[in-house]
Amino acid sequence: MIDRQPAVVRRVTEYELRQEMVRVGRLLWERGYVAATDGNLSARLGSDRLLVTPSGVSKGFLSEHELAVIGLEEGGQARGPALTGRACRPSSEILMHLEVYRQRPDVCAVVHAHPPAAIAFSIAGVSLARCVLPEVVITLGGIPTTEYATPGTPEVSESIRQALRSYDALVLAHHGSLTVGKTLWEAYLLLEKVEQTAQITLAAQQLGRVHTLPPEAVQKLAAKRAEMLQREGRNLCEGCSACILGDTPKSAP
Ligand SMILES: [Zn+2]
Repeated sequence: MIDRQPAVVRRVTEYELRQEMVRVGRLLWERGYVAATDGNLSARLGSDRLLVTPSGVSKGFLSEHELAVIGLEEGGQARGPALTGRACRPSSEILMHLEVYRQRPDVCAVVHAHPPAAIAFSIAGVSLARCVLPEVVITLGGIPTTEYATPGTPEVSESIRQALRSYDALVLAHHGSLTVGKTLWEAYLLLEKVEQTAQITLAAQQLGRVHTLPPEAVQKLAAKRAEMLQREGRNLCEGCSACILGDTPKSAP
């Protein structure tokens, strides 16, 4: 687990945050990280509320006024204008977002998407947590896959709880990705890294074997990660270090 300081909520207006959510939603759709009405976004709005995407709407075509506001504690009732013919309802996966904010006071934004290659790896039962790309080891430590849980239910909160304490990017088995950050943009960029890791690993697998980095190289990268976390005022505990330096086979099928 990593020591985390409570987030300093950015000084942006509610309207600026709404604009950022619309832009990131558009990117999710344009890059193929969501299809139909998949995925959802949230961001802290002050200390006690969240701005969240509404249910049943394509993330590629959101508008600033249709985003919902919910209380961080109760996580229930949305405040927002009526959408065409129906009330503005927050995403059905809001429980997962609330779990993130409960566990991680340092997090200000959450991006949940359905990136195809990353999901395919979980369906095939192949982990993305192997140390294959140096920058992923440094910036993310690893990309663990959580146990399958029924989307939209409290099972998901339970399935992410432990991994979330140490990692900013998770693959939800058979379902999607969960990335967190200080801003929506930061959480979105981690999603790009997750899907790119899956695509590169897939290409390597098609070319032959996936060779993981040698333990000595991983150790150097882990030291760099520890330095980076220290600069940011976070500490890498024993548990994290063990994850990074864990048993990584020289090559995997
Ligand atoms: Zn989902």
